[in-house]
Amino acid sequence: MRLNYTSRQISDLIEGKLMRYFAREPHNATMHQYYKATCSVIRDIMSELWLENHDIVNSHQEKQVYYLSMEFLPGTSLRNNLFNLHLEDVMSRSLANFGKKLEDLYAIDPDAGLGNGGLGRLASCYLDSIASQGMAGHGMSICYEYGIFKQAIENCNQVEKADDWQDLGEAWLLEKEDESENVQFGGSLEEYWENGKLRINHKNYHTVIAIPNDYYITGYDSKVVNTLRLYRATSPVSIDMELFAQGKYLKAMEEKHMAEIISKILYPEDAHQEGKMLRLTQQYFFTSAGIQTIVKRHMRTFKDLKTFPDKVAIHINDTHPALAIPELMRILIDDHRLEWEDAWDIVTRTVSYTNHTVMPEALEKWAESIIREIQPRIYSIIAEINRRLTLELTIKYPYDQDMIRKNAIIYDGQVRMANLCAAAAHTVNGVSALHSEIIKKDIFDGFNKETPSKFTNVTNGIAYRRWLCQANPRLSELIEDLIGPEFKKDATNLEKLMKFKEDENVLTQLHQIKRDNKIKLADKIWQTNAIKVDPDSIFDVQVKRIHEYKRQLLNLFHIIYIYDRIKTEPDFDIEPRTFIFAGKAAAGYQAAKEIIRFACHLANKINSDPEARDRIKIVFLENYSVSLAELIMPAADISEQISLAGKEASGTGNMKLMINGALTIGTYDGANIEINQQVGDENMFLFGMREDEVQKLRDSHSYSPYDHMVNDKHIYRIMKQLSCEIDGQCFNAIANLITNGSGGPADQYFVLADFKSYMEAQKRVQETWKDRKRWTQMSLTNIAKSGIFSADRSVGEYAQRIWGIESINGK
Ligand SMILES: *Cc1c(COP(=O)(O)O)cnc(C)c1O
Repeated sequence: MRLNYTSRQISDLIEGKLMRYFAREPHNATMHQYYKATCSVIRDIMSELWLENHDIVNSHQEKQVYYLSMEFLPGTSLRNNLFNLHLEDVMSRSLANFGKKLEDLYAIDPDAGLGNGGLGRLASCYLDSIASQGMAGHGMSICYEYGIFKQAIENCNQVEKADDWQDLGEAWLLEKEDESENVQFGGSLEEYWENGKLRINHKNYHTVIAIPNDYYITGYDSKVVNTLRLYRATSPVSIDMELFAQGKYLKAMEEKHMAEIISKILYPEDAHQEGKMLRLTQQYFFTSAGIQTIVKRHMRTFKDLKTFPDKVAIHINDTHPALAIPELMRILIDDHRLEWEDAWDIVTRTVSYTNHTVMPEALEKWAESIIREIQPRIYSIIAEINRRLTLELTIKYPYDQDMIRKNAIIYDGQVRMANLCAAAAHTVNGVSALHSEIIKKDIFDGFNKETPSKFTNVTNGIAYRRWLCQANPRLSELIEDLIGPEFKKDATNLEKLMKFKEDENVLTQLHQIKRDNKIKLADKIWQTNAIKVDPDSIFDVQVKRIHEYKRQLLNLFHIIYIYDRIKTEPDFDIEPRTFIFAGKAAAGYQAAKEIIRFACHLANKINSDPEARDRIKIVFLENYSVSLAELIMPAADISEQISLAGKEASGTGNMKLMINGALTIGTYDGANIEINQQVGDENMFLFGMREDEVQKLRDSHSYSPYDHMVNDKHIYRIMKQLSCEIDGQCFNAIANLITNGSGGPADQYFVLADFKSYMEAQKRVQETWKDRKRWTQMSLTNIAKSGIFSADRSVGEYAQRIWGIESINGK
C-alpha cells in the first residue's frame, strides 16, 4: 500500500497548519510548532485511513478484538508512523523545503510512557502487529496525565521526576467527547420485583465521566489504522455553586478534583501489586467505560446481543482489567435484562486472559470491603459468580475441600482476581512455554484439573520493525541487500541469512555496523555520564526494570569479582569490557533503589581506578525508556538475561537484543529457553539451576548462602566489600538480604547458588570473544533465528486460536 503524496503537497499541508494553529509563516515558526504541525498532518492522513477501514469493518461485519490493558508503552510515534506509511522520504524532503531536518523532529518526539516495562511494551507491540496484519483490533486504557516517572540519578540515588508527556504528545491524541461514558462509583443497592423477577437498583452513586482520547495505530504497509482509546476522567459538575456561594471556594471544586485524580498518574510498580483504593478505582474506571462502549457499538451494528461473542473478542492483559468481567455481566443483566445464565454464556465466550506472572507479590487480591465500597453492584456480581462456581465444585468434588480452596474467587475475605479471570475466560495463556506449564501446576492447579483445555501458551513477541528496521537502519539495509525486503513483512525470512555464515565480507560488514552503533552509544554515554568507553570493548548489557528476581546483583557481584582479580593478579586475563546498566526502580521499592545506588558507586570506584578502568568500565544510564532502549539494543554484544529460573515469565528485552545480534548469557528461564531451541547451546551462554532444581533446593530448606560465603573465597571477598568498601559507601542492606534475608528467606533469588556457574559462563563469553570471526558468526545466527519472536507470529496465534479474527486487508 502506497500513499500518493508529493513533498510539495505535504509542505503545503504543513504550511497551512502553521498558519491556522500558530499564525506563523514557515520562516518564523519554532521547532515545536513545526513538530505539532507535522504531527497534525500525519494525524489527518491517519484519520482518512481510519474512516476508510472503519467502513470496511462495518460493511463486512468483521469480528474485532479489544485489548484491555492498564498499560501501553508506545514510545515515540513520529518515526514509526512515517515508516509504516512509507512517508519517511517524502516527509524528509517536505521539511527540507523549509530548511528543516526530520531528524530534529524525531529528537523532540516524546516517549508516551503509559506503562512500566515489559507488560506495557508488549501491549504496544501487539497493537502494531494487529494493524500490520490488517486486523481490526483496538487497545483500551487510561490517558494518564503523568506517565512513568522520568528517572534522574543524583549522587547515585534515583530521583523521580514528573513525566508531563502530553505537553507535546497531545499532538497524537484525538479527543472524542461525544463518545464519553458515565462510570458509576459507590452508592448502595436496592432490590425490587419486576414482573416476578428480582431486580437490583443501584442508587446514590456518583458519576465520573470518561472522555476518550484516541491515539491512532498504523500498521506496516497496511491500510488498516486502529485506535488505542485512552480514557481521561472528569466530573459532570465542574463547580458546586452552592458551596461557592457560601465562600467555600476550594470545597466547591473538590468533586472535580477527586474525579480528575483517577487519570492523573500511572502507578510505577512493576510485578508488584499496589493495594491502594485509587488503583482499583482506575481499573474500574477504564474497564467500565470500555465495556460500555463495546456493547453500544455492537448494538448499533447488530442490534442483538446473541451475536456478541461472534463479533467481539475482549482480551484481558494480566488481571488489572479483570473488572471487565463483572461489568459486562452488569450491563447484560441490569441494562439489557438478560438472565444470568445467558449473560454468563456471552461473557465466557467473549473474554480471554493472559497471565504474566506467578510471583505471589504481583497476584492481585482485593479485600471484599474495598470492592464493595468502590462499586457495590460489581461486588454483588463477583459474589454471585463465586457462589455458583463453588456450588458447582462442591457437587462435583464433594470430598475435596482443596478444589474450593484453590479455585474460589472469594476466599478469606479477599477477592482473587486471577481466579475471577480463570473462571470467566474461555482461554487462559501464559507467555512462554515454560511459564505456561508453571501456571498450570502452580496458581491454576485447580482450574487445570477442572478445565484443562482452557490453558494454552502464546510466547511473547516484539514489534521487530521498530526494534530492528527503525532502531538499527544500517543493519536493516544490509539484511535487505542480502535477502531482499520480504523480511519486513515476514520475519521468518531472516533465516535466509544463514547462507552468509561463511561469507567473510558479510561478517566484516556485520562487525562494522555493530562497531558504528557502539560508537553512537559511546557518544551518548559521554554526553550523559561523562565516561569514555572503548567501542572495541565488549558491550555487556543488562537493561530492564530493577528487580531482585532479575538479579542485577548477580551481574554486579561478578564485576566485583573481576575487579578483585585485576587488583590482586597483575596479569589476570581479561578482555576489555563495558558493563552497561539501565532501568527504573519502583518509587517505593527500597531494595531496588539500593541496587541502583550500589551499581552507581561501584561504577565510580572502578571507573576512577587507573589499574582497572582501561580494562573494565561500568555505566549506569539514567531513565531507561523505549527511546533509550532503541539506542542500546543495536550496540549490544552481550545480552544479560539472568533471572532466577521460573521467575521471568517470558522477557522481551532478550528478543530485542537477539534480533540486533547480541549473544545471550542467560538462565533456563522464560523465552530464553525458546531462544536456546532456535540457536542451540553453541550460540548462546546458558548457565545456572533449572526451574526444577530451584524448586528442589527451595523445598529442601537446606540452602545456605552463608555456606557459599565461607567456602568460596571470591564470594567471601565480594560480601566483605559490600560493607563499606565501595566508593566509601556501605551496602549492608544488600548484604543482609543475601546473608540473612532481612525478615524473608536469605538470598531468596539464589544469587550465590548460581554464582559459580555464571562466572564460568562469563569465562566462555571471554574465550569466544577472542575469536572474532566465530563471535560474528554466532551473532549472525542469532539474527537469522530470531524471526519466530516477531509479534506478528504471536498475534497470528492469538487471532487464530483465541480471538477468532481475520485480516481485512484485501477485502
Ligand atoms: C522491552 C522493554 C522492557 C522489557 O524488558 P525485559 O528485559 O523483558 O524485562 C522494559 N522496558 C522497556 C522500555 C522496554 O523496551
